[in-house]
Amino acid sequence: MSEDRIPLAGVIGSPVAHSKSPQIHTHWLKVNGLRGHYIPMDVSAEDLETVLRTLPKMGFVGVNVTIPHKEKILEIADLVTDRATLIGAANTIIFRKDGKIQADNTDGVGFIRNLQQNAPGWDPKAGPAAILGAGGAARAVISALLEAGVPEIMISNRTRIRAEALKTEFGKRLIVVDWVQAGNMMEDAATVVNTTSLGMLGKPPLRVPLDGLRRDTLVTDLVYAPLKTNLLAEAEEMGCVTVDGLGMLLHQAVPGFERWFGVRPEVDSATRAAALR
Ligand code: NAP
Repeated sequence: MSEDRIPLAGVIGSPVAHSKSPQIHTHWLKVNGLRGHYIPMDVSAEDLETVLRTLPKMGFVGVNVTIPHKEKILEIADLVTDRATLIGAANTIIFRKDGKIQADNTDGVGFIRNLQQNAPGWDPKAGPAAILGAGGAARAVISALLEAGVPEIMISNRTRIRAEALKTEFGKRLIVVDWVQAGNMMEDAATVVNTTSLGMLGKPPLRVPLDGLRRDTLVTDLVYAPLKTNLLAEAEEMGCVTVDGLGMLLHQAVPGFERWFGVRPEVDSATRAAALR
């Protein structure tokens, strides 16, 4: 393989046309003056392994993986990082020089770095966290918060059994709260996170009562379309510090870009603007 081969990366999903990752990575390639390309690839589950084994032969150094392949990819990868194993899904793939496919999950670090950047006074150890939802994104948020030292996590999900399963897996710092009582979590929470898809464009609104929220509570939403969800607007009105979900998307992209293209990219206002274009 020639040394001056142009490095390629991309995002694999189905559908994938809505993904903002191409704008983000292409922006970073440009501002860092790097050679390389990043493209969206719509791939079916049955073709996933063939595609992954073929891409390195074409000059690909890695890919992001999105819905619906984030779990299946763990069966295909030759190496899986501890955090991807813990979360049970991967979003960042590295095609190593020795031919092995390595799967990692950067959603958890993306979640934490977004809060650190946009709410610098936020301390995960300040008190319990309240999490709405128990899907794939919740797993990444829970593992990141536990690692960051949160004393307790209250979790509420429409389908209670999924929240119970997370408690069984992640341990005794988790407390399951019934979905109809989710509003009761607010008064004890130092951090509130919506990991459901409620509030997203085209989805039903989030109807959890927020009147118990304290002014010193940090409220964040993983939904980033719209940027200011009703949850964030209401929390802001109540005097809480709020952080939108776009920053998580930007920060989760950093480790992959750095690994593939050799430069650690900045997450700044220009990156946000590129993602929103
Ligand atoms: P998922 O695994 O499909 O989980 C969806 C969650 O939403 C589940 O907890 C589900 O509850 C809940 N939900 C869906 N419809 C509901 C309804 N009508 N009423 C009550 N609860 C409902 O999805 P995911 O991968 O975790 O993603 C969740 C959201 O996070 C999506 O909007 C995604 O775009 C966003 N996200 C953002 C980032 C970022 O970087 N900002 C990263 C990852 C994900 P049930 O268990 O009861 O179905």
